[in-house]
Amino acid sequence: MTRTTAARPARPKTARKAPKRAALGPAGLAKLAGPLESLVAAAGLDARVGFDPVAFPRRYPDPRDVEVSGLLAASLAYGRVDLFKPKIESILAGLGPRPSEAIRAMTIPQAKRLLEGFVYRFNLATDVAVLLFGMKRALSRHGSLESLFLSHWQGGDGLRPALGGFLAELREVPMAPLREALGPERGLQHMLPVPLGPGASKRMLMFLRWMVRGPDPVDLGIWTRVPAAALLLPLDTHTGRMAQHLGLTTRTDLSWKTAEQVTASLRQIDPLDPVRFDFALCHHGMSGACPATPQASHCRACELLPVCRTGPTVLRRSRAGAD
Ligand code: SF4
Repeated sequence: MTRTTAARPARPKTARKAPKRAALGPAGLAKLAGPLESLVAAAGLDARVGFDPVAFPRRYPDPRDVEVSGLLAASLAYGRVDLFKPKIESILAGLGPRPSEAIRAMTIPQAKRLLEGFVYRFNLATDVAVLLFGMKRALSRHGSLESLFLSHWQGGDGLRPALGGFLAELREVPMAPLREALGPERGLQHMLPVPLGPGASKRMLMFLRWMVRGPDPVDLGIWTRVPAAALLLPLDTHTGRMAQHLGLTTRTDLSWKTAEQVTASLRQIDPLDPVRFDFALCHHGMSGACPATPQASHCRACELLPVCRTGPTVLRRSRAGAD
């Protein structure tokens, strides 16, 4: 029998504990700028994109296909990359070369053929069907996911209410026919959180980064009416750890508040595009260059060593151990 309980943790996840220290002031943040630029330059962004779910929307030339494939990919991009990528791949293959057209025309029998038996951790077929039919409704009512988002966007620092409204409208899908065709939902609140909780909403902020920033070798920049300055860093275990190493936050949890604090620090380095460092910081952790427990060999090779709060301690301990 299918389990119907959502496996969503109620509280924000906690990043690896670190001794609480004051966040950097303006002078300290100014010193970060050079090493962060070096990290971005050395990150080999083109090569790393293949390891990142942004590779899915980057396949499509048409902005409507970029939006829908991006939202689908971001929604399922949790857990291990090697496990979620085949799941996204199989749905996109079933949607064909124009996923936005396939979604616009989708019927429940087609959704059943596409999704029957789908399972990925917290999510079942009906969760994904809600997302697909939510996007269908948005494309029909607003013409694009960008227009849906903009219908909730008041400008300024209104990212959270706009994202909340965007997700709530995507969830306005009649559930009974989907349940009848595909069974019960399981992790809808994990996939499309309504209302937004205290967590960092990493996957949705990542989707916004893909759509709004750029275009550059990573992000697509197809949403031109939301400024990059308004974005928040999509905080996850890797960027949370890096933010602590660099003194971008005093907080240790992976919450919306921490994402705001990290972004506020980065905004002092680049007021117009504070989250442009996100991909390089995330992949510095993800690639193993700065693992959860860094060794002296990692720190000696690291562009961030001159501004890292942890690296000097790692090197000191290593020297002490060698004496
Ligand atoms: S210096 Fe060491 S701890 Fe600091 S970011 Fe680099 S690898 Fe990580």
